[in-house]
Amino acid sequence: MNKKERFEAFVSYFKEAFPEPQTELNYSNPFELVVAVVLSAQCTDVRINKVTPALFEAFPTPKHMAQGSFEEIFELIRSVSYPNNKAKHLMGLSKMIMDDFGGEVPEKHEDLIKLPGVGRKTANVVVSVLYNQPAMAVDTHVFRVSKRLGLVTQTAKSPLEVEKQLVRHIPEEYVHKAHHWLILHGRYVCLARSPKCIECKITHFCRYWEKLEA
Ligand code: SF4
Repeated sequence: MNKKERFEAFVSYFKEAFPEPQTELNYSNPFELVVAVVLSAQCTDVRINKVTPALFEAFPTPKHMAQGSFEEIFELIRSVSYPNNKAKHLMGLSKMIMDDFGGEVPEKHEDLIKLPGVGRKTANVVVSVLYNQPAMAVDTHVFRVSKRLGLVTQTAKSPLEVEKQLVRHIPEEYVHKAHHWLILHGRYVCLARSPKCIECKITHFCRYWEKLEA
């Protein structure tokens, strides 16, 4: 199977199996999504969803969070990874949203990455989830699964390289969905240490499986 066929099989399978994939982070507006995505770095969505209800109740808007104290925010997020840095990022990004963006989460990728704690990956998640833009956020699941499937070259070293290869081959209308497809498959089936190949539904276009069978 060549690369073109593999990508076609990938889109064909997932658009039928998961036509409307969603992020597993709970949020109800753009500000909450940015906060949840920043908190989710190197942490699980399950853990983030446990802390955000109280956090969003205490600080429902950027204005409230910008006026909050480090101690108050830290206390509410202390169970996530790197709470110290993340509390500083939440204060910083809230202040910047108030000072530079009129209290609204910016819509452009180039503006989002100016916010403290928001890198390329986080900005890609935000624009793809909120605005269905063809941005591919490459986290550890996307990186691993796209390589195992053979969608990207085995020699791809960085998330940016993987992102570019995926975006080049996936039809634009499916890029924002493909991000979720790869994450969810990596989270529940194609696990890092022990991929569940026996119960996997996409062995028919998986390069890793081809090699196992060879
Ligand atoms: S066959 Fe195995 S390696 Fe390939 S996608 Fe499925 S779980 Fe992952």
